[in-house]
Amino acid sequence: MKSLGVGLIGTGYMGKCHALAWNAVASVFGDVPRPRLAMLAEASQELAETKARELGFERATGDWRSLVADPAVDVVSITTPNAFHPEMAIAALEAGKHVWCEKPMAVRLTDAERMLAAAHASGKVAALGYNYIQNPLVGLMRRAIEEGRIGTVNHVRIEMDEDFMADPEELFYWKSEATSGHGALDDFGVHALSLLWVLFGGVARVCGHMAKPYVDRPLKNGGRRAVETYDIATTMLELENGASGIICLNRSAWGRKGRIFVQIFGSKGTLVYDQERMNEVQLYVAEGAREEQGFRTILTAPHHPPYDKFLPAPGHGLGFNELKIIECRQLIGRIAGETARLIDFENGIRIERTVDAIARSAHEGRWVEVRRDRVLTG
Ligand code: NAD
Repeated sequence: MKSLGVGLIGTGYMGKCHALAWNAVASVFGDVPRPRLAMLAEASQELAETKARELGFERATGDWRSLVADPAVDVVSITTPNAFHPEMAIAALEAGKHVWCEKPMAVRLTDAERMLAAAHASGKVAALGYNYIQNPLVGLMRRAIEEGRIGTVNHVRIEMDEDFMADPEELFYWKSEATSGHGALDDFGVHALSLLWVLFGGVARVCGHMAKPYVDRPLKNGGRRAVETYDIATTMLELENGASGIICLNRSAWGRKGRIFVQIFGSKGTLVYDQERMNEVQLYVAEGAREEQGFRTILTAPHHPPYDKFLPAPGHGLGFNELKIIECRQLIGRIAGETARLIDFENGIRIERTVDAIARSAHEGRWVEVRRDRVLTG
């Protein structure tokens, strides 16, 4: 494996998360060369320089195009607002760089299709930031399902709720602009769909509904602006494996901080997981004496790899940023030709098509089939 030169675009919430992952991955795993943190791009040169110092990058630029063109950069982390993803990812792929792009792929499905076409044309690795699928306990749930521990799965429910937009007086920012996408659907729905994808595969058809809890929000310099996105979305769905499902999303759910509540019901048992308690999973298996049946709690431990790479002791817990470090290790492996647990543009497009189908369904008030064929443009 060769040491990768890293370029990071954006240093907000996710930019810092990527930077921490690139800084830590070699120390945590011990089996990959230490990446070189070659260059960082921000919206201005001044901010880029400050962040490069904080996050350990060698050089800084206020022009992301120069980062993408830089010969010292092999892989580009794209952590800017959604509207920038297509332009930045396509430019990076065309410059012969691998790409690690935050979710969602793009605001418009046509742009996501162009990103996929660029990934194919480049032959480079193009991966998406679906960190929640990296939790070792998601792997445990997948194995439990595959091994038939809960029998045939017939119903799945996922609720994703946070309260960062619950206050009607919260300032208007990019997540309320139509340029960021549909709203909760692109922001949260793609995460729920990423979990469905790794646990069960694709979605066949959907029936969606989207709602705006608040019509406008205050602007920083006074006045108010109409909210253009839907902070609440509810979807009934049918999976390709025949199971039924429900996804409920709310970015304005007071009291919910990072909830992704997953319930998987099968003919012999049930699995329950909540991201707010991300180090435990509940398993119910309908066997043995009925009066002794009940959920049991499984805590993360070194025998849930790669937990062992972080900690030798069970029950001490992984955190959100650690999922990104695991994702980073998977990406490095994929670039080196290893099999990796990642959602790349090829699989990510299925998530984007499902989002598009849900939005169309919500606007048209009917069930919509999710397109399964592979359509490339450009
Ligand atoms: P943010 O607003 O915190 O950060 C965005 C950063 O991009 C800012 O630092 C901004 O200055 C920078 N930026 C904007 N325009 C730029 C330009 N032209 N050149 C360089 N930098 C520029 O946003 P965020 O919450 O970090 O979200 C960024 C992306 O990450 C979004 O696509 C979002 O959906 C995704 N996200 C993913 C997760 C996850 O769990 N995987 C969580 C949160 C956000």
